[in-house]
Order: sequence, then structure tokens, then C-alpha cells
Amino acid sequence: VTETLVLGAATASGFHPLVVASVEHLTDDAVAVTFDVPTHLKDDFNFCAGQSLTLRRVVNGVEHRRTYSICSAAGASPRIGVREIPAGVVSTWLVRHVRPGDRIEVQPPSGSFRANPEQPGRHLCIAAGSGITPILSIAATVLKNPSSHATVVYGNRTTSSVMFADELADLKNAHHARLNLIHVLSREPRDVGLFSGRLDAERLRALFDSVVRVDGIDHVWLCGPLGMLSAAREVLAEFGVPTGNVHSNCSTSTSRHHN
Ligand SMILES: Cc1cc2nc3c(=O)[nH]c(=O)nc-3n(C[C@H](O)[C@H](O)[C@H](O)COP(=O)(O)OP(=O)(O)OC[C@H]3O[C@@H](n4cnc5c(N)ncnc54)[C@H](O)[C@@H]3O)c2cc1C
Repeated sequence: VTETLVLGAATASGFHPLVVASVEHLTDDAVAVTFDVPTHLKDDFNFCAGQSLTLRRVVNGVEHRRTYSICSAAGASPRIGVREIPAGVVSTWLVRHVRPGDRIEVQPPSGSFRANPEQPGRHLCIAAGSGITPILSIAATVLKNPSSHATVVYGNRTTSSVMFADELADLKNAHHARLNLIHVLSREPRDVGLFSGRLDAERLRALFDSVVRVDGIDHVWLCGPLGMLSAAREVLAEFGVPTGNVHSNCSTSTSRHHN
């Protein structure tokens, strides 16, 4: 496999070669990649919580573009969370081969899934698998407002497949009562039965009936597989949450499906 990275100035379609500042291993099959943004590109790479970056990799003359959500809080260096898809052209490269100092072509942040931290509010975030990536950014950003509260419900198979476990625990420690963090595991029993199983409509109903208060919620942020998104929308409607308060982000029916 020969690889071509176009270096130097901005390339076609607004791609910029950014230096990889760090690669952190989150799980056996997932990493966080942080980019250095040179001073002259700072404005271009300013992002809102929830937005994503499109990367480009050229292999044997064939261009592959993939989008990854930013996991860092607004104002920090852009950092993406990537889970490897077996034989995936871009995710496998990012998880197994990319190293600090490498250059990757990246487009400025984009996407309408984004939170405004200025307004105080009550936020409910529901994520599964790598869907936590933009949710981590949103939760960390909105909680900077001392009047805001967030609940994060995060579904995974097992403890070892939880991306950003440490960052989420740190966020909880930093905000205590303003952050309600609930891990739900589908293939590992938890002490509380409610937190064991898939994030389907039945479980969401049970959560909203008990530990997650949805009345008066200002914004709901959903990121995960299509099935989880539609179950959440259905149950939120049953509980009277206005549709306009519900925002969702989904790549494909499978690409964030890790339950
Ligand atoms: C808005 C948006 C945000 C995204 N954010 C993230 C993110 O934060 N983190 C993240 O890890 N990914 C994210 N993705 C998905 C990402 O863009 C890629 O689709 C993913 O990394 C796979 O690309 P690849 O080149 O590795 O695989 P490809 O080379 O495209 O696929 C390899 C093979 O695997 C199949 N395949 C692709 N996806 C899956 C899957 N999930 N399960 C099983 N088979 C599959 C393909 O059909 C193909 O046969 C996001 C996508 C979108 C649209």
C-alpha cells in the first residue's frame, strides 16, 4: 500500500495538513487523536461542541474521506475518537498506524449537531458505542456554564469497550451534582438490573420512570445507531419532550452500532 499525503498549504476542497499531537489508546480498538492547529488556522478550526472533522487519506491514488466527531470541549485543540472497523480503510489506519508527528489532511469543523453553551439549561445526552464522541464534547462544554445540568446515559457491551471511561469519570468528579452519569452495559451484569441490557425503548422508559427526569429538559442530544435513535425519539415523545428539543446525530445504521 503506497500512501500519498499532500503536504504544505491548504489543498483542494479546504483540506489542511495538520500535525498529529497525540494518539491515546482508549480501548483495544479505539483511540483519541489530537491535532495541532497552527496559529494561522486557529479561526478556521474553531468548533462548536458536537461538530465533526472530515479527514482524507489517499491510498494508491484513491481518495478516502471519513468524518469523525470531535470529542474535546469547545475551545480546546480538536481531538477525535475513532473506533476501528475491521478492515476499515481509514479507522484501522488511525487506530493502528498513525503516530504523533504524522500529518493528516483535515477539513475545518462542520455539522449542525451542536450545542450552545452560553444558554444555561438542562441537557439529556444518550449515546451508544462511539456515539459518545460528540456527546463528551457537548457535556464538557455545556457544563462549563455553572447553571447547566446534564445527564449522560451511555450504552456499551462491556466495561472494556467503554470509550472515554476516564474522561467521563473526571467530568463527573469535576461537576458532581450537575452531572448524572449512567453506564448501561448489554453484555456484562451490573449491580442495578436497570443498567444491564440494551438501550432500547423498554429500558429508556424504565430509566425515564426512575433515575432520569425528562420533564423540563431543554435539550436532548442523541448519538448512536439508528435503532437507538428511533427508540429514544419514540419514548421521549411519550414522555412529552417536544420534538424540537431533540437533536440527533447518526452516521449509518451500523457504523456506530456497538451494543
Ligand atoms: C457525521 C459522522 C460522524 C462520525 N463520527 C465517528 C466517530 O466519532 N468515531 C468513529 O469511530 N466513527 C465515526 N463515524 C464513522 C466514520 O466516518 C467511518 O465511517 C468509520 O470509521 C469506518 O470507516 P473505514 O474507512 O474504517 O471503513 P470502510 O473502509 O469505509 O469500511 C470497511 C468495510 O466495513 C464495512 N463497515 C463500515 N462501517 C461498519 C460498521 N460500523 N460495522 C460493520 N461494518 C462496517 C463497510 O461496508 C466495508 O465493507 C462518523 C460518521 C459520520 C457520518
